[in-house]
Amino acid sequence: MQTGSQALSGLRRLSSIATKSEPFSVYIHWPYCSSKCTYCNFNKYVDPLVDHERMQASLLRELKTELKHWNLDQRSRPIRSIYFGGGTPSLAKPAMFQSILETLDDMCNMSQDTEITMEVNPSSTTSVETLKALREIGINRYSLGVQSFQAHILKELGRDHTPSSALRSLRDARAVWPGRVSMDLIMGHAGQTLSDWIKELRFTLDVVDDHLSLYHLTVERGTALHRDVAQGKILLPDHELASDMYDAMIEITEDVGFEHYEVSNFARNRAYSLHNSGHWLGIDYLGIGPGAHGRVRDPITGDLFRTFNIRDPAGWMRQCTEQGTGCRRRVAIEPDEFKQELIVLGMRTSRGIELSRFYQLTGQDLMKYLNKEATESCLSAGLLRVTPAKVYPTERGMAVADELVARLLP
Ligand code: SF4
Repeated sequence: MQTGSQALSGLRRLSSIATKSEPFSVYIHWPYCSSKCTYCNFNKYVDPLVDHERMQASLLRELKTELKHWNLDQRSRPIRSIYFGGGTPSLAKPAMFQSILETLDDMCNMSQDTEITMEVNPSSTTSVETLKALREIGINRYSLGVQSFQAHILKELGRDHTPSSALRSLRDARAVWPGRVSMDLIMGHAGQTLSDWIKELRFTLDVVDDHLSLYHLTVERGTALHRDVAQGKILLPDHELASDMYDAMIEITEDVGFEHYEVSNFARNRAYSLHNSGHWLGIDYLGIGPGAHGRVRDPITGDLFRTFNIRDPAGWMRQCTEQGTGCRRRVAIEPDEFKQELIVLGMRTSRGIELSRFYQLTGQDLMKYLNKEATESCLSAGLLRVTPAKVYPTERGMAVADELVARLLP
């Protein structure tokens, strides 16, 4: 019989072999915004005196250090995706994107298939010429934070763009990256009725490209929205209305050919986000920039680590200068924690979890790991499907993904 430590070392060997040619992703965090949205709890700063040169130099320094540390500067592991997020990366200079992409191209295995996304705030986009210049640099996917096409909602959210600037940005981006533009939209605003939401969604579907991320407005601690809700100044839709909005969203997006491939994500013409789906599939990703975090496997031992960077840009830049990286902690991920993470993420996707992939990454038979009784009851309740190759949630299962996972975990 296998002991716990034998199983663990077997798993590490297995995972180490599995990762030798496995793709990985890179996330780059640009932490600055022109103003703060009322609902946002991301790591962002409003600073009129951003030191662009120092920021760029620090990002490059950390990128090189981390690529070497994790042995990712090897041609054997292709880059699946690169994601410039924030904050508002569209406030950065084009030279920042160019230098990062040139460095990755020099040190790693980048190809035509590498998805390179830039997150954009409509207020910080300029001319079609600028967009074309970004495309020349290598950006091949564009994610626009529209959030709403209603002026009063944008005002409530503290967004600094207008419906017309969002429409213009979307139109320009679609002209430069046809089929590769995503946009975010938020539902569940104060006073929003079901018919308001349906109207907003139908309007959006008339103008959107092939990818859409739809989120419920969530109240995060430490935000202006949290304070206003706590003081009773703002009343958000109750659970029943929020759930009706979700159901309407599923029905209406499906009618116009969008596939609901993750709880909050919809794609047409298979325009899935490679970057996000990489997280759900358990693919390694490097986190670069203030407050970024990553999940990377040690190339020698096969142990999996979560990395956490210093959040404050000044402190992060200082440590990058002194130590080559602004990483403040590398924490080993326990095998059980990783298995549960794969299940939590997989049950949010229509694709679910492939049994062979789960075994490749964890050395565990998924069907033996899941709670047997719960699996059977979720199957008969129509929340889950099991085939010889995979386990996946039904549309109804995805709608209650958190509850489904809570039942399935051992
Ligand atoms: S633009 Fe994005 S990151 Fe910046 S405050 Fe608004 S939601 Fe947060």
